[in-house]
Amino acid sequence: QCQNMADSGELLLRPETHVGLFPSAGMGHLIPFLRLAALLVRHHCRVTLITTHPTVSLAESNLVSRFLSAFPQVSQVSFDLLPLDPSTVNSTDPFWIRFETIRRSAVHSLFPLLSSLSSPPLSVLVYDVSIASGAGFVSAFGDVLEIPGISPVPRSSIPPLLLVPDSLFAHIFFTDSAMLNKVDGILINTFKELEPGALEALNNRKQSEQGFPPVFAVGPFERFEFEDVDQCHAVSKWLDEQPEESVVYVSFGSRTAQSRDQLRELGEGLVKCGYRFLWVVKDKIVDKDEEEGVEMVVGEELMDKMKDKGLVVKHWVDQEKILSHKAVGGFVSHSGPNSMIEAVIHGVRILAWPQNGDQRICADVVEESGAGMWARSWGWGGDGDHYEVVKRDEIAEKVRELMESQSLKVKIKRLQEAAKKAAQVGGVRSRVFMELIEMWKMKNL
Ligand code: UDP
Ligand code: UDP
Repeated sequence: QCQNMADSGELLLRPETHVGLFPSAGMGHLIPFLRLAALLVRHHCRVTLITTHPTVSLAESNLVSRFLSAFPQVSQVSFDLLPLDPSTVNSTDPFWIRFETIRRSAVHSLFPLLSSLSSPPLSVLVYDVSIASGAGFVSAFGDVLEIPGISPVPRSSIPPLLLVPDSLFAHIFFTDSAMLNKVDGILINTFKELEPGALEALNNRKQSEQGFPPVFAVGPFERFEFEDVDQCHAVSKWLDEQPEESVVYVSFGSRTAQSRDQLRELGEGLVKCGYRFLWVVKDKIVDKDEEEGVEMVVGEELMDKMKDKGLVVKHWVDQEKILSHKAVGGFVSHSGPNSMIEAVIHGVRILAWPQNGDQRICADVVEESGAGMWARSWGWGGDGDHYEVVKRDEIAEKVRELMESQSLKVKIKRLQEAAKKAAQVGGVRSRVFMELIEMWKMKNL
């Protein structure tokens, strides 16, 4: 595979492009960065991965180790964090607290660290702005409500915390928006057929607004072998026993915990829907804090009811392996950006149930692109003032709609084809990578 692309003699004669990658906290950020790293290595770049220690979740440190063993040619440097400053943090979410600490520490010591990297010196630094998300959300930076070229984002789709002026989330978001004109380019894990409107809007903005950086749709990112985890045997075995496209996979990503009430209602809804299901339960935001077993969290009575048709687990799963399994037909998802792209790559239609952050923006993409449907009337997750548990009957009904819709089946397969085509050897993604690397070389001449 390494020889597939860009292997022209011309490229090899030039000095290597040295790319520094600095992901912030959480698997939703780390996974796309490591996939980007793998793609850059494939395109003959030298890569240095900058990480912070200890990582917030165990899943992150495990993945970094697996990545570094698989890619010995990638160097790793540790970035030292300043001690936590409680006066700057008004969040209880450990990932957001880490985010803020990284940002504060970067002001202090990122530049010396970057200058110390040599052989050859760093050509470019890729880091993530507060949201590792698709073109839709990036285009929402700055003018949140009215975005020329794409459907306006209703106030209800704006993450609730963004509307709280002194929240950490709002602070990070608005500081980063103001910085967008200062970067040399924006990389987004997406591709044209998934977000045509948003990508066009971003390109138009580059044409019309001086200083607005070029946008590179470097996706879709697929899973690499280093992501293999062993703990999935029970899951694979169970999936192997289910008929084709009969299973609905239910997961809310790597950092979204649901209330006990909602979890139980969801379980009841899955029993009611009549379809087979594979459900990944998450009870805590950070994996290290998970203490109780799945029976405790969901309740034994419900566990018993679910046995017939479902498999319920409460640990990290190999999501892409699940999505690529022929038994899986539908995906009830929080529509995190990575999950959305992964479902598209594997042709699994989505029922989007956004919980927070940019997930309603992604849900809109899901609906518009034909990747699935969005249960629009369901509220945000969490436990805020307006929080309402979605009831079992509604859940059952929507899941049935997802599994039974012939038109969604057709649409997702069409989108899947487009994704495959973009990512194939010589496809648009490799052209975008070559263009990007060319730009980096020019900047460093
Ligand atoms: N993921 C996984 N196994 C899990 C939970 C999550 O492999 O048990 C992966 C998933 O495939 C995706 C990432 O973690 O690549 C989650 O990113 P996403 O943007 O979907 O949501 P986030 O977790 O950031 O909210
Ligand atoms: N968030 C939170 N507490 C905060 C700030 C943010 O719970 O103080 C939530 C926020 O609502 C958002 C999520 O954390 O939904 C992070 O969103 P994002 O989409 O950036 O996460 P990612 O999927 O990129 O990791």
